[in-house]
Order: sequence, then C-alpha cells, then structure tokens
Amino acid sequence: MELTVLGADGTYPRARSACSGFLLQHDGFTLWMDAGNGTLSFLQEHVEMGDVDAIFLSHAHVDHCADVYPFFYQSLNTGKVVPVFSATHVQENMAPLIGDDSKREFAELFQWHPMGSGDVAETGPFRFEVFNAAHSIENATVRIRAEGRTLCYSGDTGPNPDLPTAARGADLFVCEASWLEKDEGLMEPIHMRATQAGAAARDAGVERLMVTHVWPPNPLDQVREETSTTFDGTIEFARETKKTSV
Ligand SMILES: [Zn+2]
Ligand SMILES: [Zn+2]
Repeated sequence: MELTVLGADGTYPRARSACSGFLLQHDGFTLWMDAGNGTLSFLQEHVEMGDVDAIFLSHAHVDHCADVYPFFYQSLNTGKVVPVFSATHVQENMAPLIGDDSKREFAELFQWHPMGSGDVAETGPFRFEVFNAAHSIENATVRIRAEGRTLCYSGDTGPNPDLPTAARGADLFVCEASWLEKDEGLMEPIHMRATQAGAAARDAGVERLMVTHVWPPNPLDQVREETSTTFDGTIEFARETKKTSV
C-alpha cells in the first residue's frame, strides 16, 4: 500500500495546510481516507478527482469530511458514482447542507455504507474493519488490510481499550495526538495526548507510529519528545505531500 498525506492538522489548518486527509493506493485503486477541509486541493497534486475509487470518512466533524462537498459538486458534472464508507450517521449529518436542488444526487452519486464497531467491508483491494472510539460524536477507527499489509487509522479518539486492538501488529499505525501534557484536562478525553498515542502504539505492538491531528500551536519536536516517553519504535509525522509505503 502507498500512503500519501493530504493534510494532518488537528481541528483547523495552519497556513497553506489542510486538516485530516490521506490517499491510500494499492493495485491501481485509490481510496481517499478522510476529506478534511483543504485536502481536495492537495489531492489534485497526486491524482485527478475522477481517479478516486472510494472514500472513507472517520466521522462527521468538518476537519474530516468537509471536502466531500466540493468533490460532490464536481461529481454532478461527471456522474461518477463513488462508494463512501463511514461512521454511522455521517450521511445524515452532511445532507442538510446540500441544497434541495441536489439532495437526490447526494444520495445517489455516493453509495453510502455506514459502519459501526465490528463491521467489516471490502472495496477494491482493501478490507475495512471498524472499531469503537472515544470521541464527542461517533468515530470509526479503522483497520485496513490489503495483500497481507495492515494500516490502522485512529480518526479522532481519546484513549480507549479498543484502540490497541484495532492497531494490533499493524505495519503502520496512524494515530492522532492532538495534545501535549500541558493540555491535560483541557476537555473531556475526546483526543489523545502524545504520551497516550505512544502508549497505544506500544500496547498494540507496532513498530511504526505516524502521528497526526496535532493541534497547530503544539511544536512537533515536543510532540515527538513526549511520544517517545511511552513508545520505543519509529515516530513519524503526517505532513502534506508525505508519501510512504506500508
Ligand atoms: Zn478532528
Ligand atoms: Zn472530531
């Protein structure tokens, strides 16, 4: 599998940056995994919009799904039908912003596949398995397999016992680390601190952790330092246009 980072900022983007989004490609198939605001622009540096074969949306917060809207409006011109795998209720949350003139097409041009914990689905070469998360709305943490390789993507979640299970032995664990130790108690645990992301990676037994969804003011060198207090493996950062093999 080839992973391309389209955006990685937590909640809002830095200048010339984007919120959460990735391309996952294998065997000629292109999956757009999270469509946060700004990612459609970066996507077109790598593929044509018409090359997107399927979409996965971890949840209905705009920093993970907003660019589905402009993608939809170009789909009105092409008529291409794209399957969308997502946490439950994403379609219902997004549909009200579509005008009455194209609500029917929003339901038809996207083949919606809502997924809850324990659900499994396949598209192209990819097999998805969804796990529970601990977020302010339903989030689908996903384990994706293709030809013997495994990637786990946390989406947005606080610490929860299902997370190391979802990431167990994955070749790459893409995990959010929104916060640092100084942010402890900032909100209910709906996001991870860097130490908690590292602990989840350690408990999952992975060797490669790609940290994503960092709160923009938090410096990456400090995120790395705090992550390394709980995780001995390789720590990478998701950044726009980064490409890596899984
Ligand atoms: Zn988010
Ligand atoms: Zn969120």
